[in-house]
Amino acid sequence: MNILSRITGFILLFLLWPAVRPAMSQDYARMRNDMMRDQIISRGITHRSTLQAMRKVERHLFVDKSLRSRAYDDNPLPIGYGQTISQPFIVAYMTSLIDPRAGDKILEIGTGSGYQAAVLAHITDSVYTIEIVKELGQSATKRLEELGYNNIRVIIGDGYYGLPGQAPFDAIVVTAAAEHIPPPLIEQLREGGKMVIPVGSQFMVQNLILVEKKKGRITTRNMMPVRFVPFTRKENPKD
Ligand code: SAH
Repeated sequence: MNILSRITGFILLFLLWPAVRPAMSQDYARMRNDMMRDQIISRGITHRSTLQAMRKVERHLFVDKSLRSRAYDDNPLPIGYGQTISQPFIVAYMTSLIDPRAGDKILEIGTGSGYQAAVLAHITDSVYTIEIVKELGQSATKRLEELGYNNIRVIIGDGYYGLPGQAPFDAIVVTAAAEHIPPPLIEQLREGGKMVIPVGSQFMVQNLILVEKKKGRITTRNMMPVRFVPFTRKENPKD
């Protein structure tokens, strides 16, 4: 290589460096800030602790390395095994609907990447989350442990039955679309508690439903049409 082409190479690298260098933590912080402004606040989420939690959780650490630069985009992303990490707005909206408080005990069905559980764990003291795909449950357990979330318990199994041994829960968040609201989950909701769950089949319109238990009575409200991966009922067939 002659000296001229070497110099040209250096100049090119210098000019292109901002585009080719790996993203750094301050870039992710900026992306997270943009996400909060453009996707969450501008769409009307005002629940303070939800906003605080979503500002903190490093969403790029919940997706595959190759997808990190897209982690703060306005859409769900694949996490393997045909599953997805939900769109940031949906996580914020579902969190705000159940209105979690410090001291609450919360159950999530559908751990996936562990992101929704991490958002909840910044607000409340104890989060239980059930995942049916063993591999996803294992990788979320490892990730949450490494990130220091010691108030989240990941359980591998079918979330349809909830966790009777830990019930009642102050709130329940279901992040896969069920054909109907599983009766055991209604049973395990504390008096005054709230559950948010997408209901509908995979290829039809699904509705995000807010369920409340007041004086032993159940009320349900349709909040918005959504699209979630299906709630499945069998353990991973590879097991
Ligand atoms: N909350 C997740 C998004 C998960 S996508 C996140 O923040 O990343 C929905 C998840 O629900 C998938 O991982 C899927 O495997 C899981 N799932 C589907 N049916 C389930 C069931 N019956 N019990 C527990 N988990 C279930």
